[in-house]
Amino acid sequence: MKQGNRWLGLAWSAALVSSATAGVFLGAGNFAHTDIAKYSAILAQHERAPAEVVLKLSDAGTFARRTMSIEKIFGNNFHIAAINAFETNNKFYKVKLESDTETAAFLEALNKNPAIAYAEPNYIYRINGTRDAEEVIPNNPDLGLLWGMKNIGQKDAEGTVGVAGADINATKAWAKTTGSKDIVVAVIDTGVDYNHEKLADNIFQNKAECDAGTDGIDNDGNGFVDDCRGWNFAGVSNNDPMDDNAHGTHVSGTIGAKGNDGKSIVGVNWNVSILPIKFLTGSGSGTLEDAVKSIQYATIMGANMSSNSWGGGGFTQSMYDSIVEAKNKGILFIAAAGNDSENADSSPHYPAGYQVDNVIAVAASTNRDTLADFSTYGKRTVHIAAPGHKILSSVPGNRYDTYSGTSMATPHVSGAAALLWSTDKNMKYNEVKERLLKSRDFVPNMARKIAFSGRLNVYNAVMGIYPPSPEPAESDWRDVKIDAPIESAHPYKDNAKQEWTIEGPANAKYIRVHFAKAELESNYDFVRLFDSKGVEVDAITGEGISASASYYGEGNMLKIVFTSDSSETRWGFMIDKIQVVY
Ligand code: CA
Ligand code: CA
Repeated sequence: MKQGNRWLGLAWSAALVSSATAGVFLGAGNFAHTDIAKYSAILAQHERAPAEVVLKLSDAGTFARRTMSIEKIFGNNFHIAAINAFETNNKFYKVKLESDTETAAFLEALNKNPAIAYAEPNYIYRINGTRDAEEVIPNNPDLGLLWGMKNIGQKDAEGTVGVAGADINATKAWAKTTGSKDIVVAVIDTGVDYNHEKLADNIFQNKAECDAGTDGIDNDGNGFVDDCRGWNFAGVSNNDPMDDNAHGTHVSGTIGAKGNDGKSIVGVNWNVSILPIKFLTGSGSGTLEDAVKSIQYATIMGANMSSNSWGGGGFTQSMYDSIVEAKNKGILFIAAAGNDSENADSSPHYPAGYQVDNVIAVAASTNRDTLADFSTYGKRTVHIAAPGHKILSSVPGNRYDTYSGTSMATPHVSGAAALLWSTDKNMKYNEVKERLLKSRDFVPNMARKIAFSGRLNVYNAVMGIYPPSPEPAESDWRDVKIDAPIESAHPYKDNAKQEWTIEGPANAKYIRVHFAKAELESNYDFVRLFDSKGVEVDAITGEGISASASYYGEGNMLKIVFTSDSSETRWGFMIDKIQVVY
């Protein structure tokens, strides 16, 4: 205390002389720049309240407090906005500066000041394990065009108004994680523009090869010379998987376009390692031979998954075996269901159709939460839908373009798998698959066409939220009589368009209609049903429909829209009753 007294005496007189001397008293005039740099680095590490510090007075400082204003103890060299004593302990204070620019220097000065025992950033703590995460909105200016990431009902590139929430809920998932470079996604495709401004930072680096440079030596001993960033198997065999099409670069942008860099788009992962494997040529085609080599290379490289936005051919044993081999190494195989509007259960499409349990077959959804009309589907063999219609992403040469296809849906699922995996690197491939599929949003109109009856929701996946399948049993349906049938003319006319809105009892949970009969020109003339949100729940076409119920919508309301084209008319349709579930 004696020493403290002496110091205080000096300090007190110095403080009276001038502010410059007061600076010496604080040490603020003497500190080395390296000390400020140290505090700047500390400040950058964790979330904190800007411009705020928490400090404890030393014994000397406590003594000084009796005779000096607290401002004088801190000195005049900083622009102090507020000083608040703790109500629980009179040695503790929170001090707020007018600007955060002084915080590092202020901390440095305080910690050198004998009046202060210690001073620390006012860190922010958050509860763990909340289910209602906040959103994280990156500063990428084109996020608003990425309806697949966040759909607020904006129009897609075609001008179709979206249904809010018909998205993968990426902005909420980003509050939990924005991905990790430890997760490797092999993009088996037309190559990747690894120089693209959105992708360059997220391209896989085979360290031994990249460090050694192009030295003509297989530095990591994997059988491939100088494979620093993937391989090109497209009719050749070299270390340059540059994209000469655009497709692989588009796919890669959805998986892992760098986030929060102020430029254009953002991928499902802001950080990830994309391993480019090229087997499709510039025209977008490739052989079985090169496809199998590509799958095998991804396995050699120990990727977490491969993303496969391609298809064709029939069943082949060699591709089946290479997918099984990937499975045995714990690698997911995520594949586009196909773009032929067919039912894959009866006409399988490969590689999505290989029945190996590391395969995830992906259908394409629209911004109105319907399956895209081109999308292949299959209640038994197509697992999940994901945004795949009018998707903006990267294309070579730092450009961006809008594509549609199950090719665009697949990287949403691959990206989601990578994002989920980044939360626990020890997860097994089948856990990742199960969590992705079970956490989907249930979408009634997909229930008959998609094994898991819905669309990807990566937020649910990372949080472990599994929405129930609220599918009513057939015995739950109750008839609601209508005064007169709802029907077309018999036969109907060319270019017909008729609309009806039906409303069941207010407490109905689900509603559908019952057709006494329907005969419509197949795939040209339709009876479409929309729920109260405007989501299409069913589209009836073709002949031979009698005494059968439509698919159902949520709520107690349906809009019925009948359209015919300019030729070929049939008998038409008749709805004889409404059915509801309470
Ligand atoms: Ca090598
Ligand atoms: Ca080398």
